Formats: sequence, structure tokens, C-alpha cells
Amino acid sequence: MSGATRRVVIVGDSIAGCTAARELRALGHDGPITMVGCDPDGCYARPPLSKRVLAEGVGASDAWDLSDLDLTAVTALATGVDVERRVIRLAEGDDVPYDALIVATGAAARRLAAPDQSGELVVRSLADARLLRERLENATSAIVVGAGFLGMEVASACAARDIPVTVVDVDPPLQRILGPFLSDAIAARAAARSVDVRRVDRPVELVGDPVGGVRIDGIESTADLVVSCVGEVPGTHWLDGSGLGDAGGVDIDDRCATAVSGVFAAGDVTRGSDESGRVRRTPFWSNAIAQGRVAAASALDLPARCTATDDYFWTEVLGLSIKVVGPLPLVGAPTVLEGSVEDGSALLEWTHADGRRTVVAYGMKKAVGLLRRMVS
Ligand SMILES: Cc1cc2nc3c(=O)[nH]c(=O)nc-3n(C[C@H](O)[C@H](O)[C@H](O)COP(=O)(O)OP(=O)(O)OC[C@H]3O[C@@H](n4cnc5c(N)ncnc54)[C@H](O)[C@@H]3O)c2cc1C
Repeated sequence: MSGATRRVVIVGDSIAGCTAARELRALGHDGPITMVGCDPDGCYARPPLSKRVLAEGVGASDAWDLSDLDLTAVTALATGVDVERRVIRLAEGDDVPYDALIVATGAAARRLAAPDQSGELVVRSLADARLLRERLENATSAIVVGAGFLGMEVASACAARDIPVTVVDVDPPLQRILGPFLSDAIAARAAARSVDVRRVDRPVELVGDPVGGVRIDGIESTADLVVSCVGEVPGTHWLDGSGLGDAGGVDIDDRCATAVSGVFAAGDVTRGSDESGRVRRTPFWSNAIAQGRVAAASALDLPARCTATDDYFWTEVLGLSIKVVGPLPLVGAPTVLEGSVEDGSALLEWTHADGRRTVVAYGMKKAVGLLRRMVS
């Protein structure tokens, strides 16, 4: 099939899908591109939702302009794919045929509430962030379930408004992603800012309908605001029966190709193998961009202009920006290259057993390009 007639369909219109569309055009594809997305708020960046949007309002989230890409944007829920006939089924409207398909349906917030329990707050979409911001206006107490980066960012938004907040998790803050050294530093910073980070033995249960508290190790605690930040669920339900992955994600190789011919995948919906062969998801912004670019090239049978992994990650916790470039997890103590962790401004370096390095700008202003050069 010539490039001019190849119909590329992208399902999912967030960063992985939009990057794929942009890369298709950058690689010279002048054939039809259809992008299917189901969020009524359209295409926007998620990282500001738990940061600037909670602090400044929804205007702080940029909507993306794709008008230069000459694509057909369809606002609809994709409900299925027939990989034999190569068509996408929609909840409403005609089937969408494709020659190459890029699955970029990301993930949804994992929820803890029982199916009939109302009022659980999460932060995944602009609508979620809008509601949470409204609720923050009048809240006098908050409980955040989950001390990962999202939970700690929401706790930071509460602390910035002087709302007493308790964060509960079975693990110490950010330990799963950043390792024990930085987790200890963040726990100390939280304690100094009266953020009550509580470690629990068992996963907590939400109580009330609407949700108004949690049951922690058998004891109920209530708050004006209870927010679940307990990870995400890959958006694969619409792929049931297609052979494209399972509830844990869509498996991809280093070309972002799936097990099904003509189908590629990118972003939070995917699952891949790391250098040691371990299968895992890496649901981060930079990775979604890298995979979107690689999936686009592969959909055109062209070589990719970058690799399908990008190990840059950042978060903003309790007034600190933390930028990480390099492999995770971070085991043991780092070399302090500049500044001091206690002062909230440090440049840190870890050297891994295989000789690779990870650098972290902890509250210290450093350009990502510089951090990348340091580890390369
Ligand atoms: C609040 C928040 C803060 C974050 N902060 C950071 C950060 O600081 N640093 C960092 O590295 N990462 C951060 N992330 C993670 C980062 O935003 C994600 O890795 C990234 O958004 C993944 O992009 P994606 O395009 O793969 O999927 P998503 O952003 O999940 O988008 C998938 C899109 O597909 C659409 N879709 C899903 N199913 C269907 C269907 N069946 N039919 C049609 N459309 C469908 C959805 O509506 C959605 O728009 C954050 C995430 C959140 C939620």
C-alpha cells in the first residue's frame, strides 16, 4: 500500500495519540489520518491537572491545536476492533476502516469505591481536576489514599491551601517509584509541613455514600475531601476478543508493534519489557511521547527517529520540582553533586550495577537537556 493511500487510524487523542499524528505528518505521510477520542474536553495535557490546575484553575491546562495536521477528528467511544476486517467500531456512528491502527487509549484512574458507592474523587481528566479544585475551595480536611506522585501532588495542593491532609499508603511516599533515599527526604519534608503521611498494613476501604472517609486498619476516619490516587487501569476493555493484550495492557515490542499485524500501540495503555526482560508498564509522559513517535514510524514501515523508551520523569511535591533522568529504581544513597537535600536543593547521582547512571535535580533548577547529557 502506498503512503498516499494508507489509512492510519489512531484511537486515543491524548499525548501518545497526538504525538503519533504529528510524527506521521513529520515523516511525510500525506494520506488520511483519523483520530478517535471520547473526552468531551478534547485534547489537553494531564500533568498540569494535579499541579497548576489545582492551584490556578482550569485555564492552567492548555488545549492542543491540531488544525495544521489535516486529520479527521472523531469524538466517539471506540467499542471494538475487528482485526480481520481492519475496522474500528464506535458507540455511535459508522465503523472506521484502517490500514494501520495505533492504539493510544491510555488509562483510567483505578477506583476503590464499591460499584454502588458514589462520590469517589480521582484525578485523571480535566473534569476530575475541575471538580476537585471546586471541592478544595471549601474543604477543611482531606484524606488522600495513595502516596505515589499523584497522591503527593494532591496532598501538596491541600497543604498549599492550609487544608489539614492525611496521606495513607501501604508504602512510604514515592518509594515505589523513586526508592528509599528520596522517599525518606520527602517524608521529612511532609512532616515539616504538617502533612500527615500514614503507613498502613492493609489497603484502606472507602466509607460512606457519598464517600466521606476511609477505614484504616479497622478504624474509620472522615474528611471533607477523600481523594483516591491509587494508580490506573489500562484502557483495553474495548479490545476484548481482538488478541491485543488483556486487562494489564497491550504488549508491544521496541517498534511499538503488537501481536496483531498492522496494529501498533503507544503510551499508558502499553506494556513492554525492560533491559532485564522484566515485563512492566511505564505510564509517564515522556515515554508516551517516545512511543507515539515510534508507533507512527512503524505504522508507515519507516525507521523510527528515536527509541521507544525515554526515562525522564518529573513531579512537583510540597513546593519542590523533582526531575529524574535515568533508570529506576534508585537503590541506596546517591553522590551529592551540588547543594544539599536537607536544604531542598540538590543535584544527585546514582550509579547502577551495570554502570548506567541516574541523575536527579531535587528542588534545584536544572534544564532537562543538561540532565540528559549528564547520563548519556
Ligand atoms: C493528574 C496527572 C498528573 C500527571 N503528572 C505527570 C508528571 O508530572 N510527570 C509524568 O511523567 N507523567 C505524569 N502523568 C502521566 C502522564 O500524563 C501520562 O503518562 C500520559 O497522559 C499518557 O498519555 P496517553 O496518551 O498514553 O494516555 P492518556 O493521557 O490516558 O489518554 C488516553 C486518551 O484516550 C481516550 N480514550 C480512552 N479509551 C477510549 C476509547 N475506547 N475510545 C476513544 N477514546 C478513548 C481518553 O479519553 C484519553 O483522552 C500524570 C498523569 C495524571 C493523570
